[in-house]
Amino acid sequence: MAIHDLPPPTWHQQTPESVLRLIDSRADGLTDHEAETRRAQYGDNLLVTAARRSALRMLLAQFGDVMVLVLIGAALVAMLVGEAEDTLAIVAIVLLNAVLGFVQEYRAEQALAALGQMAAPSARVRRAGREQSIAAHRLVPGDLVLLEAGNVVPADLRLLHIQRLAVDESALTGESLAVEKHTAALDDAELPLGDRRNLAYKGTTVTAGRAEGVVVTTGMRTELGRIAAMLGAQQDPRSPLQLRLAAFGRRLAVLVLGLCAVIFAAGLLRGEDAGLMFMTALSLAVAAIPEALPAVITVALALGARRMVRQQALIRRLPAVETLGSVTFICTDKTGTLTQNRMQVDRVRAINEHEASDAATEGAPVLSLAEAVVLCNDATPQPDGSLLGDPTETALLQHALSHGVDLATLRQCWPRVNEIPFTSERARMTTVHAHGDTLVACMKGAPEQVLPRCQASAHAAEAMQEAETMAAEGLRVLAVAVRSLPPGDTDHVAGSALDANTLERHFTLLALVGLLDPPREEAAQAVAQCRSAGIQVVMITGDHPATARAIAARVGIDSTAPVLSGREVAGMDDGALRVALADTRVFARVAPEDKLRIVQALQARGEYAAMTGDGVNDAPALRQANIGVAMGRGGTDVAREAAHMVLLDDNFATIVRAVREGRRIYDNIRRFVRFVLSTNSGEIWTLFLAPLLGLPLPLLPMHILWMNLVTDGLPGLALTAERAEPDVMQRPPRPPSESIFAHGLWQHAVWVGLLMAGLALGTQAWALRQNNARWQTLTFTVLTLSQLAHVLAVRSERHPLWRIGPFSNPLLLGAVLLTFVLQVAITHTPALAQLFRIAPLSLAEWGLCVGVASVVYVAVEIEKVFIRTRGWYADVTPRS
Ligand code: ATP
Repeated sequence: MAIHDLPPPTWHQQTPESVLRLIDSRADGLTDHEAETRRAQYGDNLLVTAARRSALRMLLAQFGDVMVLVLIGAALVAMLVGEAEDTLAIVAIVLLNAVLGFVQEYRAEQALAALGQMAAPSARVRRAGREQSIAAHRLVPGDLVLLEAGNVVPADLRLLHIQRLAVDESALTGESLAVEKHTAALDDAELPLGDRRNLAYKGTTVTAGRAEGVVVTTGMRTELGRIAAMLGAQQDPRSPLQLRLAAFGRRLAVLVLGLCAVIFAAGLLRGEDAGLMFMTALSLAVAAIPEALPAVITVALALGARRMVRQQALIRRLPAVETLGSVTFICTDKTGTLTQNRMQVDRVRAINEHEASDAATEGAPVLSLAEAVVLCNDATPQPDGSLLGDPTETALLQHALSHGVDLATLRQCWPRVNEIPFTSERARMTTVHAHGDTLVACMKGAPEQVLPRCQASAHAAEAMQEAETMAAEGLRVLAVAVRSLPPGDTDHVAGSALDANTLERHFTLLALVGLLDPPREEAAQAVAQCRSAGIQVVMITGDHPATARAIAARVGIDSTAPVLSGREVAGMDDGALRVALADTRVFARVAPEDKLRIVQALQARGEYAAMTGDGVNDAPALRQANIGVAMGRGGTDVAREAAHMVLLDDNFATIVRAVREGRRIYDNIRRFVRFVLSTNSGEIWTLFLAPLLGLPLPLLPMHILWMNLVTDGLPGLALTAERAEPDVMQRPPRPPSESIFAHGLWQHAVWVGLLMAGLALGTQAWALRQNNARWQTLTFTVLTLSQLAHVLAVRSERHPLWRIGPFSNPLLLGAVLLTFVLQVAITHTPALAQLFRIAPLSLAEWGLCVGVASVVYVAVEIEKVFIRTRGWYADVTPRS
């Protein structure tokens, strides 16, 4: 078989039968075995974007930094001139650092790959006559794919059977109107893509209808693949924070290089050895330029995303992890997200409409309520007795079954011959059933949709009133009505497109049914958490305003302001909607287009909005939202593709947990940046101030590298494992534009650096005065230990160590201990001590170093007291 040898345009010229023949497939699909053989031949159905980096390349990339290469080069030169030991030490430290970096990045990469796999789309196929859902990358030419509204087309398909299929091809052709498809063969081989109406292309989205098609091309051979190939590999987008830090790093690099040049020149002027000064300046540059910051952030975000998935939030776009903490508004659906989506019939109010009607002309309805509810219903019982379908419908079916309706007989007796399906916009559905000559239509839906389509009667006003009362109790109310159609009414039987205007009138109202969908247990608590975290919760629902308000009140959403309906929203201009959003928190009977406008209005108010959605039409709102949230269980592919995050359990509380996690991760990134910058500043100040104070060069290149690449690296990374502070959800959201250096971060780095340098240089001066030959060891040790003291204090910006618990981050504690042990080891192992040009210290001297270093810890704790009590660094206007 040489499927791909056929020139591509031929597929649309074939009839369905000839396509199946050419591609060697059948109406019941390939067998799994055939599919596997083909997959071996054609490869995975994947677009090859940026190729995954191999482990080796990742390792090599650790040495890619120019400064590190210069350092290694300089060390090798030093070896040539006879400083072999130094060279070895420097190379070893750089290697160790590279391995550390590699391990981190590799873990992050693995975490991302795992997430990518979880987010991968699936496809429904028919193989060997059996429908199943498989990962879309396993599709092969010849597979039969079933499509329905909301699906993203998983490969290029030749359509075989369709039911009113409409596809949005804007991703491929730029045409924004959905294209109606058909299955007939087309003549013209040269037709443009958009006119090949019998093909469906990978990456386009089904907006309406259903279809079955046979896969003709997969992966890079699809039309989308060709475009992807032309565009080349796409880079992963970096988060705003990463971009800002990269820019900051570049500016800092210039500054550090300038300072290094000064340190180098000052050393020369004082008559230090030129080679030594060069290595010193270079080591300092390598150590103090935070070029690894953006990479560390990727690691923090990726590992954070992995944690989130365990809490049922699947991140599709990595920067979302960082920005989640800025969310000020969460706009959420009601059904299934705030509520359990386990509906139950709570109440039935029969309306004796037929008594009031003119019995001579109309007669009593042919169907009872229970019968109408079963017929006008797409839910079906499963072999295990459970019911499959939309929860509203399964609840109704369950109710009818419990009243003794014989479902199979009834549906057989009254087969459905036509229908106008349910859509959220219509908020009702109508089916037509035939029994012999007798034709009857059943309608169920929102009362305000159904009642006006019933015959006028004395009960109408009363029924409307009753519906309002039930809704105000939080029930979803459906009105059920039937209509007898004239026998042999061909307009309404199979095949003819129904006209809603002529069919949906003159109905007889049977009853109002109130369905109860209890709120999820965690919902109220999650809403309360949002309130304390300064996040507003807005409910947006397709349900009735009264139902919406009742449920909102039950979960604690502010429902004091009037509920706005979709119609009212449609009547407002953007300005009015913006004003309304000052206090409206419940929107009802809303259409997806309104959702988009609500997000835009919130953003125009300067808010940072998360928005949930599950349908095809929700995609624009999800894309527009700062955090688009799709449903993993109930949602469509289209919504998932548009979203930044997918809720695997469809649960509102999961969004709140994700926000909390996002805040924690951002805090940890800030901790890391705070720590690293302070440390670097400490080293720079030490080397910069020493000559000014008339002190000899305090540290050797190896010391600088050791501190920065090893003893700092471990505790610094462990900071990213810090737990959330007790009050993460008690503070207002972080303004998205707020700099990471806000709230005193850079001030902290400067003064803590100065303090560390002061302590180190003070020790150096004192030791020199005492004629202590180990003055350099003491200086080096004080500086290293003060960094460890600092990392303990910097675990929280506001709270003292004892409040967050000294043992609450075991990883960090382990890293601090390990670093301390390493420091003792290099000081007391003769070979290493010689390598580092240091000498063993006495116990008293160790005590002295620990004591001096603790000053940093105490000082930072004092700073926190001022932050807590005096509002230091609160350089941000609190939100109202
Ligand atoms: P939310 O936006 O909170 O998730 P929803 O999307 O479930 O709510 P829709 O499904 O759009 O809301 O339903 C809107 C209205 O349509 C309901 O209030 C109900 O009156 C009516 N309705 C819902 N399901 C059906 C159905 N299967 N048949 C007929 N009418 C229905």
